Amino acid sequence: MDFQEIPLHLGIDSESWSLLLTFFLIHEEPRGRLPHLGQMEEEQLEIALQHLVSSGLVVRRTEGGQELWSLGSPEAWLSTAAPAGRDPDRWAMETGELRRLRDLRGYPRVTVTANRELRDRKRLVPEVLRHATTTLPAIDLRVGTRCNLNCTYCLLGHEDRYLRPLEEIAAELALGRERGIQKVSFTGGEPTLHPELPRMIALSRKMGYRQVMLVTNGLTLSIPGVMDRLVSVGVTAVGISFDTPDRATAASLWQVDALDRVEAAFEAVGRHPDLLLGSIAVVTRPTISQLSELARFFIDLQGRIANRFVPNLDFVMPEENAWANRDVLVPRLSEAVPAVAQALTLAHEHGLPLTFRGFPPCLLPGFESWSYDLYMTIFQLVRTPDGIVFDRSTIDALRTKAPGCRRCIHYRECTGVSRSYANRYGLSELQPVEATP
Ligand code: SF4
Repeated sequence: MDFQEIPLHLGIDSESWSLLLTFFLIHEEPRGRLPHLGQMEEEQLEIALQHLVSSGLVVRRTEGGQELWSLGSPEAWLSTAAPAGRDPDRWAMETGELRRLRDLRGYPRVTVTANRELRDRKRLVPEVLRHATTTLPAIDLRVGTRCNLNCTYCLLGHEDRYLRPLEEIAAELALGRERGIQKVSFTGGEPTLHPELPRMIALSRKMGYRQVMLVTNGLTLSIPGVMDRLVSVGVTAVGISFDTPDRATAASLWQVDALDRVEAAFEAVGRHPDLLLGSIAVVTRPTISQLSELARFFIDLQGRIANRFVPNLDFVMPEENAWANRDVLVPRLSEAVPAVAQALTLAHEHGLPLTFRGFPPCLLPGFESWSYDLYMTIFQLVRTPDGIVFDRSTIDALRTKAPGCRRCIHYRECTGVSRSYANRYGLSELQPVEATP
């Protein structure tokens, strides 16, 4: 699905369009969070809002002294015939997708990370493929947003931090099982802060989930006995966030000096060698120069533990906190690429299957097989009155590619860049890789 041309036909600039999609997604949102969701400056946001209000797509009102917006009716616009010069079939497909986006708002849903079907499996790296097929397909289940860190790049931003009740989690677990999914990843916020987490894990196993992964910042796991307890109730895999082994940089990114505790969490996982271990390093401008040091840290860790270990370098998403701190944190992709390539080379020379996400393959030639994006796909399961349906519209709406990407040999598999990145830096770095004759 490609939304890029629709705003042109509407006379809505791409940033207003991005904001409109956000309205489709969230339906209604208090004023305070809009600049982060809209991914634009206050001044631009005001202009975009005026445009959306005057077109009837967004309605502004005041309630309890608070200014709120909600989505107007886009039906009239969605019903217009294809303008002259447009392919009517494609126009119909695009508006159909938009209707779907609108129609599925508000229904219970779970996000699923699944294996990607690829025609040419010979291109894949066996260790990474084994990791992907062991951990996926899985439902990503957020148990709440409460956290014991406040990372400067956090995607939860200024959200009021909450913990979700066990009943809600149980309903989502049931939705996943109804579609035969056997793996679950508990995420947050920080999932280990939820007092009901052991019950959630035990419940998942009882419902038939064969694999239970915990995605954590590791602080709680450093407390003696915590990892043992979580394993005893059914955890089978752990993913620990770890951006850099440089103490000062880590402390400034996490806003706490927590390096020793996160390192202790890796050791706690290492005492359970059957646990599958992953690690996610968010690549930001301050860590670019430390990526080789990070690779060495992971290589050393792999030498000390017996767990199957696949770490990942994940390009920062310029949203929420990362958007607010974008001048400090968000580099151009091309600024980070040489250091990423160096870290990947170093890791692979030492037998460590270091992967990456968020970097389109045109920017890392020679490393395409190590892109975890190649191994996975994300969609949602939505419970509607007509049954459970698959939906990709909310996920696809967040990503974009350049117009020339259609010529690229990676077009079908590539996930492009986030719209927020495109809003920040444009798309000129994306250079189509043409097929060799
Ligand atoms: S499809 Fe576009 S973004 Fe993806 S690899 Fe090709 S040129 Fe790069």
